[in-house]
Formats: sequence, structure tokens, C-alpha cells
Amino acid sequence: MRIDLHTHSLASDGTQAPTELITAAQQAGLDVVAITDHDGTGGWAEAAEAATRVGIELVRGIEISTKHRHHGVHLLAYLPDPTHPGLRAELDRIVEGRSSRAPAMVAALRRAGIEVSMDDIAAAVPGRPHVADALVRHGVVSSRDEAFSEYLNPGRPGYVNRYAADLTATIRLVASAGGVTVLAHPWGRGRKDDLPAGDIARLRDAGLSGVEVDHQDHKDPDVREELRAVARDLDLVVTGSSDHHGLGKTNHELGCNTTAPDEYERLLERAAAAAAASARRTPEVVGGR
Ligand code: AMP
Ligand code: FE
Ligand code: FE
Ligand code: ZN
Repeated sequence: MRIDLHTHSLASDGTQAPTELITAAQQAGLDVVAITDHDGTGGWAEAAEAATRVGIELVRGIEISTKHRHHGVHLLAYLPDPTHPGLRAELDRIVEGRSSRAPAMVAALRRAGIEVSMDDIAAAVPGRPHVADALVRHGVVSSRDEAFSEYLNPGRPGYVNRYAADLTATIRLVASAGGVTVLAHPWGRGRKDDLPAGDIARLRDAGLSGVEVDHQDHKDPDVREELRAVARDLDLVVTGSSDHHGLGKTNHELGCNTTAPDEYERLLERAAAAAAASARRTPEVVGGR
């Protein structure tokens, strides 16, 4: 069983339509794939239809933009009821923050002498990667990475802050919508000090179910092993995933990291328990075996 629990489509900052993503996942030899676009469920319906057709098990999820101690943290939410009013309102608020940030980023870049316009970055869930791609198309930089390091990271001329939800509150919110949560790449990009083990313990107490350990942003094997040990001590589910973005991110090919089948089963058990406790109508895993 090959299980990849974190991927993006054109519904956020991936470069493949959900159908293409699902087909590619099946061709990559995956048995289970999760679609986890940033802050929205716009890809869910098409992905579910494609998964049923090609016969790959699909877990519907969202990668929610949250903050903790003034730092951004990505929270993977699996199988919540997408119609839950509180969750819907929070996702809408985040997407609104993205939509109002986009013109502010364009304005900031134009002040820095870069000729981009809003037409360049049209997207339902607009993010910095869309701006990065525009900078590449305009020949300002040669890659998304360079766009981030030169223009889009904090402190660079195109950076604009945006709304993110409180991490602990979002863990509780997803639980009330009948879903489960997993911290996405918590110690990636040298961010270990922003989320120490003691904080992860408190998040577990607030209802967190798992930690994404095997991820390309955890480059150092020692970091992975330390995080794996923290997760084990706290009885958190350990996941691994590609965080595939199509052509949008190199070195994140489908299945480059995977989740162990028994950890996946534990995650599904917790999701079933959360769904039952919430009494919400939660999405099923579809397309499997
Ligand atoms: P945003 O959520 O719009 O602020 O953009 C953050 C997203 O940009 C992350 O979720 C990644 O998908 C992507 N990202 C961040 N840094 C880089 C980078 N150096 N190269 C490519 N994509 C990046
Ligand atoms: Fe992304
Ligand atoms: Fe992320
Ligand atoms: Zn992601």
C-alpha cells in the first residue's frame, strides 16, 4: 500500500486539474492519495469523481493557513464536513485575506518597479506561488524559488501579510466539523523553535491527531527522527507525504514520501471517532479497492 496524504491541484497553487492530479497519482503507483489544497474545497468534487473512475482511494482534505505565536503554521484537515458553518466562515475569511492581499502584492511589486498586474495572478485561492509564476513568466526571475527569495518572502519588496486563523482554535473547529488534523511539515525550513515539543503536546490536548514527519522540507534525517519520537511519545499519528504541486514545486513528486498503512488506519479511526462525536455529515473516503 502506497499512501500520499498531501497534494495540491489548480484549486490552489498546484498546476494540475484535480482529474489530472488523481490520474497522475494512480500512474505513480499510489493506492491512496489525499487532495489538500490551501484553504478551500474547490477541488473536492472533481477529485472524488476522478478517483471513483480510476480506482484510487481518495481522502478529501484542506491545508489550512493558521498562526501560532505569530508564526504561520500549515494545518492539514482531513474529512471535515465542508458545510460546517464555522469552518466555512473561517475558510472564507482566509480566502478573503488572500484575495485582498493579491492587489496589495501587485501594488508593492509595481512600487519596486516590476510590471505585474492583477490579470497575471487570477486564481480562486490566490497565493504567493501565483505571483511567483507571474514573475517567472515576465522574466523577472527564473524560478518560483528565486521569486520567493528575491521578492516574496518576509522582508522582501513584494511581501504582504495576510489573515491566518489561530492554530489551536482551528484544531478545535475542524474537530467540531467532524474532521481530524495533522500538522503539516511543522519543523520544515528551520522552524523547529516555533513549534517545540511542549507546544505539540498542548495541541494534542486540544485535539490534534497527527504530525507530518516525512516531508521534503524536513531535510535533516535527525530532525525527522526527533519529530517521529515526539509524535510517538504523544501517541500522535505519523504521516509522510509529497506535498506535490505539479510543476509548481520541484523535488515533491507524488509518492516521494509515504504514510505507513497502520498509521493511515489509525488516522481513519480517529476521523471516524471525530465524525461520530460531531454528528456532522462528513465525507467518506472514496474510490478504494
Ligand atoms: P501563501 O500561502 O500564498 O503565502 O504562499 C505560501 C505557499 O507558497 C506555500 O504553501 C508553498 O506552497 C509555496 N512556497 C513557499 N515557499 C516557496 C518557495 N521557495 N518556492 C516555491 N513555493 C514556495
Ligand atoms: Fe502550496
Ligand atoms: Fe504547506
Ligand atoms: Zn502543501
